[in-house]
Formats: sequence, structure tokens, C-alpha cells
Amino acid sequence: MEVKLVVGMEIHVQLACNTKMFCGCRLGYGDAPNSNVCPVCLGLPGSLPVINKQAFEHSVRTALALNLNIAEFTKWDRKGYYYPDLPKNYQISQYDLPFSYDGYIDLPLADGTAHRVRINRAHLEEDAGKNQHEGLPHSQIDLNRAGTPLLEIVTEPDLNSPEQCRVLAQELQKIVQFVGASHANMQLGQMRFEPNINLQITMDGKVYKTPIVEVKNLNSFRAVEGAVAYEAWRQLEEFKKDHSFTRENHGKQNRGWDDAKGETIFQREKEESSDYRYFPDPDLVPVKVDAGWLKNIRDNMPEMPLAMKARFVNELGLKEYDASVLTAEAPMARYFDAAVKAGGPAKRLANIITQFGISTASEKSCAIDELGITPQRLAELAKLVEDGTINATASAKLFNIMLTDDAPAAELAEKHSLIQKSDSGEIEKLVDEVLAANAKAVEDVRSGSKKAGAARGFLMGQVMQRSKGQANPKVVSELLAKKLS
Ligand code: ZN
Ligand code: MN
Repeated sequence: MEVKLVVGMEIHVQLACNTKMFCGCRLGYGDAPNSNVCPVCLGLPGSLPVINKQAFEHSVRTALALNLNIAEFTKWDRKGYYYPDLPKNYQISQYDLPFSYDGYIDLPLADGTAHRVRINRAHLEEDAGKNQHEGLPHSQIDLNRAGTPLLEIVTEPDLNSPEQCRVLAQELQKIVQFVGASHANMQLGQMRFEPNINLQITMDGKVYKTPIVEVKNLNSFRAVEGAVAYEAWRQLEEFKKDHSFTRENHGKQNRGWDDAKGETIFQREKEESSDYRYFPDPDLVPVKVDAGWLKNIRDNMPEMPLAMKARFVNELGLKEYDASVLTAEAPMARYFDAAVKAGGPAKRLANIITQFGISTASEKSCAIDELGITPQRLAELAKLVEDGTINATASAKLFNIMLTDDAPAAELAEKHSLIQKSDSGEIEKLVDEVLAANAKAVEDVRSGSKKAGAARGFLMGQVMQRSKGQANPKVVSELLAKKLS
């Protein structure tokens, strides 16, 4: 028996706009229920929708990053649902003429290879409101979210492992953040994943396909990987029990994900697209994309995370790992890049950011570029380490001081006695004192005994301590070597 996992993914991304997709209502999180509503997003008779241009621009930028073609002509369709959180009883979406089509994304896998996933399309639509059932005597509906601009990205079924599905989710999150189309905060539900999963099983020269399951509304990378792995296992078990468990004999199914149990749960049989009664929305004009407008967007595309990572490795000489960490988030990648452009030595900057910048930002629950140290000042700090003015230990201290003091880095290093001492005369005096006070360790080094290495380290530590951490470790080490030889 040969088993191939086949997964296509649908991704909904909430666009970073100030207002809704087809009306001027504010997009706010945590506002009083039903405070951001108007006749358009309440679906009142006679109200007319107007397209949000910023949402269209965000979407085109994302589509270009995903190598999609942009349609010259695109229109809007009504997708019929009868749900309490959808006041119009239809969702405005794009059916047969989406604004973009035929793209791809290359996924960087852990083994160093890349896996190409074709992207069928990306289209624009609006979100529904929210039903609230918990802790209430009856269900309530909040329509603040109704009409929120959503970009839906649909891949071809080119994903063949739970890992690939997770990497796709991670790369897409980075891409929408890098182009500025979405904050893609998963906890806030700004990015939701829906894998369509089935198996192709080859047995006795025959190919069997298990029924497709769509897992709804996954909002963490762990859930994406877990749900796909669980379904791959569940569908194989079903098939082993009963070989008539195939697409031909069963319809599509929607299932949910129970994060605590790590299992998918049956929700409902899935509608076919004819059940949605799609038809063109007569209230909205189609969009004809202006070539000059599109060229302008194309010419101003920001650098994408993978390209940036490659540049950090190839041009700045960073280690692969450091480059990955630095390009994990757009604000951090740009902060580091700006500090390099301000003249900071790249490797020192990478050390500062990865060794204590990130942890400091996470302690303060903010992004690294919001800590209050400008890229220019970070570059100053890195230069002080590079030219030996301060050592690595002092750079962590100085970084912390710079969080609250705007004076130039060099001035602060002086003021807080962090300047490294490289004057060999002064250090030699300390070395002599330490050697005189530790005859046993000196003997261990000179006799070349087993303890020589440890003794040498001990003496080094003693000198550094006497200098209050300010001696240049390189000078100390050279002097010790000379005197102990
Ligand atoms: Zn509205
Ligand atoms: Mn959708």
C-alpha cells in the first residue's frame, strides 16, 4: 500500500485597513458591540456599497508577492448564505473573475530544499459578524466585524506533508506582513487557515482517493500542522477498516479542530458551490485595473523575507540561523537593515539584536523597533563594540541604559564606566598582582598538568574581576600567555 497525502489550502487574511470593505465604518478590535455599523454593513434595504481602494491595493501587493497575475477586469459576486451573523444573507465575494490568478510560492523546508506550491487565485471578500453564545441566556450577535476586508488565497493541492502545510502558513504570514497588507495576528484571528485534505492510496495496482475533508478556521501554526497530521492518520484508519471509504461514495465534509484533544471533529456535510447561488452583485461596478497604477505598485514592492534573508547571508556575511531570526518579522528585519545602512557592523548588530534585543522587547511586550533606540543609535552601540571601546558584556549594559537615556552611546559608555581598558601597562599591573596571589594556579599552568586549561581560565577571570570587567579580554589573554610561557 502506497499512501500520498494531498492538501490544498484556503487562507483568509484580514487586511490592515482603517475602514470596512464596502462602507466607511471603523475597523476596531474590542470596541463596544454593534458600535461600528451603518446601513451598508447592516444590509439595510436601499443602501449601496462602495469599494475600499486601500483594501484593493493591499491585495494586489500581496498577489504580486505570490507571483500571481493581476486581472485587467474583475467583478463582485454575491455568495448566498442564511446565517444570523450575515445581515444581507449573502457575502460579497469574487466568483469566476477574481482579481488575481495563477501564481506560486516556494517553501523553504528544514532539509534545505524548496517545495513549490501553485496558487490558484487570490480574491477579495468581506467577513461576517460574530455570534456570541457563551455565558449568555440567549445568543447575541455583534456586527462590528461584518464587512471587514478579507483576502482569500487558494492554493492548488500541492502540499504533501503536515510540515509543508505549516511552512506555507508561516511564509504567508511573513509575506503579508512584509508587504504591509495585514498585521496577521493569529490570536486576533487576522489570519485563518482551512486545509482541504485527502489521501491517494495505491493498492494492488488500483488508486483510491479518500473523501476530502476541509478543516475550518485554524488559527495557529501548530493547529495547521496538527490537524493535517491527524486527518492523514484518521483517513488511513477509516480506509483500512473499509475500502469503500472513497470520494465516490462520500461527500465532502467540514470538520473543526479541538486544540486541547488534538483531534478533528465532524461539523457538517459541505455545500457544493451551486448551493451558494452565486450571481454578480448589481450594486457594485467591476474594477478595471489601470496599467500605470499597477506599474507604480510593482515598482514600489518592498524586499520579500526570503530575498532579504539571502542578502543578509551573502552580502552581510551573517550566519544562516541569525538571518532567519532577523527576517522572521518585518519590523525587526527593517530595523536591523536600517542600522546596517546607518553604518553599524552587521555581525555586531545581529549579536545585539538576537542576544538581548529580542528578549528585552518581549519583556516589554513590544516590537524591537518600539524600544526607543533608533537604528542610528543601535549602529553607534555596535561600532563601540567593533572598535574595542566596550566589550560584549558592557554592550548589554549599555543597551539597557540607552532604553531610557537618549545621550550618544559613547558618552553613556564613559559616564557609566563601561569603557574597555586596553592600555597594556595598566593591565600588566593587574596581571602581575593576580599571578603573585595565585601561585598554585600559576604552577598548574606552567607544569602543563591536566588542570592547566582550567587554571588559565581562572587566572583570566581573576584579572577581569580586578578590572571590574573593563579590561580588554584580548590584551589580558596575550599578557597571561606571555608571562606564563
Ligand atoms: Zn458600515
Ligand atoms: Mn472565503
